[in-house]
Amino acid sequence: MEGQPQETADGENVLNLSRLGLETLSAEAVSEERRSDVQQLLLPHNRLLVLPAAVASFSQLLLLDISSNGLAFVGEALLGLAKLRTLLAKNNRLDEFSLPKELGRMGLEVLNLSGNRFEEVPGQLLELRALKSLSMGGNRLKSIPAEIENLSSLEFLYLGGNFITSIPPELANLHYLSYLVLCDNKIQSIPPQLAQLHSLRSLSLHNNLLTYLPREILNLIHLQELSLRGNPLVVRFVRDLMYDPPSLLELAGRVIKSRNLAYSRCELPENLIRYLDLASKCPNPKCAGVYFDSCVRQIKFVDFCGKYRLPLMHYLCSPECSSPCSSNSQSESDSEDEASIAAHRMQKVLLG
Ligand SMILES: [Zn+2]
Repeated sequence: MEGQPQETADGENVLNLSRLGLETLSAEAVSEERRSDVQQLLLPHNRLLVLPAAVASFSQLLLLDISSNGLAFVGEALLGLAKLRTLLAKNNRLDEFSLPKELGRMGLEVLNLSGNRFEEVPGQLLELRALKSLSMGGNRLKSIPAEIENLSSLEFLYLGGNFITSIPPELANLHYLSYLVLCDNKIQSIPPQLAQLHSLRSLSLHNNLLTYLPREILNLIHLQELSLRGNPLVVRFVRDLMYDPPSLLELAGRVIKSRNLAYSRCELPENLIRYLDLASKCPNPKCAGVYFDSCVRQIKFVDFCGKYRLPLMHYLCSPECSSPCSSNSQSESDSEDEASIAAHRMQKVLLG
């Protein structure tokens, strides 16, 4: 049953055993010489229920495709594949108890577990420091663990089609992330920290429960594609002016900052110095003020490419700083606002 030797464009030796109705793979089925030669082993569309132990004898394997089998379990055999970089195991019956405990010490760079039964991201998977691409679309994930930040090499993260309700701010620590797919989930808000994802080029958020976007998202200067269709964001827009009056501490802090009063570390206790460092500048271009804990939450529509208007969340220092909310026509004072200038950097916004 040994398949014909094939070579890929980069000269890698491929053994294609897909669609053969295999229920297992015995070592004898492939000569020893061939086993130590093969770099890509393709076993998709068979009837494997567990990963055959014989797979471990393919010592030079770089890529293993075991997609579309009935796999419920991938055992220790996987750990013997010291050179494995790509594991494709989509469309199986895997869950968080299916993978070897020691998976985290493998050098995997690409892992595709889409179309399985994961309800959470397995802990050992979050130890794969070399991982560049992780796909877990079409599973049953309810959350993204904060430890996702450990996958520091990650460039591509696909989590579409799950039941995820929120995004942990720690996701923003993935400095190389350029593609983030979170479409078809139940996400209600985007943490402003996401603006720290400086490498981000594509952000898919369609078919979620978003009612607004944080204003900070305009800082994603490399973002080329943002998909938002199927969110209540334009429909349900709240105009709440929730405002807790500032504390005396905050008022004093505001005066020090906005008047630029000099202070030094020997005059003030450390906690006050830290507090003063937390000042945020009021985004109203006509206001020179700052705020600390007390601010006005406001949703403001910003023009994108003159075609769509996006509700963006921003925070003002006082109710007087919010522009009068009439049923605003297209040319409100936004036009000179830095926000709308930054908005033009985004080339492609998919709303429809
Ligand atoms: Zn202000």
